[in-house]
Amino acid sequence: MTIRTRFAPSPTGMLHIGGARTALFSWLYARHHGGEFLLRIEDTDRQRSTPEATEVILDGLRWLGLDWDGEPVFQSQRQAEHVMAAEQLIESGHAYRCYCTQDELEAMREAQRAAGRKPMYDGRCRHRSDQPQGKPYVVRFRSPDVGQTVVHDLVLGDVVFDNAELDDLILLRSDGTPTYNLAVVADDAAMGITHVVRGSDHLNNTPRQVQLYQALGLPVPKFAHIPLIHGPDGSKMSKRHGAVAITEYREAGYLPDALVNYLARLGWSHGDEEVFSRDELIELFDLRQVGKTAARFDQQKLDWLNALYLRQANPSSLVDEVLRFLHADIAGGPDLAEVIATLQERSRTLVELADGARFFYVRPEQYDAKAVKKHFREDTWPLLEAFVSAIEDMASFDRERVHEVIRGICEQAGVGMGKLAQPIRILVSGGPVSPPIDKTLELLGRDETLLRIRKGMERLRQGLLS
Ligand code: GLU
Repeated sequence: MTIRTRFAPSPTGMLHIGGARTALFSWLYARHHGGEFLLRIEDTDRQRSTPEATEVILDGLRWLGLDWDGEPVFQSQRQAEHVMAAEQLIESGHAYRCYCTQDELEAMREAQRAAGRKPMYDGRCRHRSDQPQGKPYVVRFRSPDVGQTVVHDLVLGDVVFDNAELDDLILLRSDGTPTYNLAVVADDAAMGITHVVRGSDHLNNTPRQVQLYQALGLPVPKFAHIPLIHGPDGSKMSKRHGAVAITEYREAGYLPDALVNYLARLGWSHGDEEVFSRDELIELFDLRQVGKTAARFDQQKLDWLNALYLRQANPSSLVDEVLRFLHADIAGGPDLAEVIATLQERSRTLVELADGARFFYVRPEQYDAKAVKKHFREDTWPLLEAFVSAIEDMASFDRERVHEVIRGICEQAGVGMGKLAQPIRILVSGGPVSPPIDKTLELLGRDETLLRIRKGMERLRQGLLS
């Protein structure tokens, strides 16, 4: 049997971090078993579904590297099949037309509430044999009154529902459109889905879906309901807790591999290991190791993983990503991959990395006032002048020689190297933080270094900080 899973988002907004994790688990399960991972866009809510939202979801999945098999299925195009399934159920006696009006339904619920019972449809149209012409009707599922429906969940174990609690579900609305549970069952069956992996917020729908499969004479797939993601305060992860849209993580400079690693560990575990490559995840992932309780989102851990992935990446593989955030023309400047190599160790995100790289391509227009105040003293100027004249005549300008020159000047003046290195750093970068000064200057090159130092000295002497 080929394992076939799916992701079935409703394109009504963004790709939520919880949805992305559901997609990841579903993808991992399929890939682990050499099966297929399909995509179904549940766009039946015509008012709220937009092509833009579909694109955002597809883009997010592509960015995360969650590739799907075949073309996405659009649920709205399968309405005829959904209606056929409802008709089949009417014919087999598992569904019926209900002609109750809103007023009748309201009166019924009112009476149930008054009698202290839970309001639910009482099945009064079940035995109706007439079909009043021109009167609107819905199609309802004739759900069993007694017994239990058990969902054998791969994550949660057996979950038992009393059938008496489930009233006769509407399958087709009075305008003939299918409802969620009918559409999902008809589509999952048609797509040959063997394992339904989804958020545990859908668990209450599942006994109804199981009953529908049985009534339609279809094999019941396996289910795996993934507990939700909570924020640090223990409530459902939402905007209040920070970024929830996958695009926000992308824009904040996270690497897809780091996010995938983080999301995989959010609810799934393998011993106490934290770092997994994509291949390792595929090899090791199993729904049985998904936790039963909600996982808490931990920003620090994500940042830690992102920093780790940044550190370990091949610098050239980051060039395109860094360019997205750099907003600078790199032509004529140092090789970006080399610049990245000097910053990887110290950056948590691509945004930080690009921020640290920018001064290599954009001359500083202003200087951090606090840093200037701290590092520029009377005795700074002669040190800088000595440095300028030393490098003016240098035959070759590389990291070792730059280091030697700075060391020599400071030794002679009897001061620590920071007394010269910090002022140089401020003049070439605008601020007090950069990769090691010798490497920084080597990358900038002698001409650019001289130009920046001269220009900076001139400005600061004129008291121009910004
Ligand atoms: N379209 C549903 C949602 O976005 C998912 C349905 C399902 O996975 O069964 O929540």
